[in-house]
Amino acid sequence: MIKEGDKVLLVDSRGKKYLLTVREDEFHTDLGIIKLGELIGMNFGESIKSHKDKEFKILKPRIVDFLAKMKRGPQTVHPKDAAQIVAYAGISPGDFIIEAGVGSGALTMFLANIVGKEGRIVSYEIREDFANLARKNLEWGGFGDRVEIKLKDIYEGIDEEDVDHIILDLPQPENVLEHALNSLKPGGFFVAYTPCANQVSRFYERLKEYKEHFSRPKTIECLVREQEVKKNCFRPSTRMLAHTGYLTFLRKL
Ligand code: SAH
Repeated sequence: MIKEGDKVLLVDSRGKKYLLTVREDEFHTDLGIIKLGELIGMNFGESIKSHKDKEFKILKPRIVDFLAKMKRGPQTVHPKDAAQIVAYAGISPGDFIIEAGVGSGALTMFLANIVGKEGRIVSYEIREDFANLARKNLEWGGFGDRVEIKLKDIYEGIDEEDVDHIILDLPQPENVLEHALNSLKPGGFFVAYTPCANQVSRFYERLKEYKEHFSRPKTIECLVREQEVKKNCFRPSTRMLAHTGYLTFLRKL
């Protein structure tokens, strides 16, 4: 049963989605006004009508909805790349992750959903405005219990030990290799997301100094090609997200 303070996803007849918090308030759409208080006591799967008699389906929002509707500051990691990070580093419920930088907190939210209530994420960020934005997004998504945002330059060191994964989305991941030696568990993963090929080359160059400490690196790029499925023509969409970033994975020995 839906309670005051719950988050709901309302979907209109056109498929447009609204992620709202249930409270005694009105929500205005071009299809009419919805009295949000009326949602209290209703169930997910039911529908509510606006004052113009337009129907909205009430769904329970899931992580994909929070990622789609969160407030954005700097460029976020796309779910296709976040999924590769989880898959290739084997991120699991209960894991302890160090991340940098937090940016808008999109990757953080994706990871917080995977590690679950038993997991923990400490995310380093140098910009206070982004740290505040990410903190708000994470609280709003219901992940404030497992994420700590630290206003600190990760190039200067990592305070935590016994870490399962270090996940970086910042310009020079090679500056974190030295700190990873002390904080990562043996077998722990080091993941670097970098948009440019020359960043990957620079990372590999520095990695030569750490050869005996890490497994051989692996770098991937993930391309997702959406399909247009029509009665007379089933084909890839004309447009595609061509490039986001490279993902480099290593493992501490
Ligand atoms: N992964 C994030 C986006 C991160 S954008 C998301 O999906 O939303 C990169 C962030 O790294 C920026 O916010 C930037 O301020 C931060 N950053 C850059 N260098 C850093 C450093 N040395 N330590 C901590 N944060 C850093």
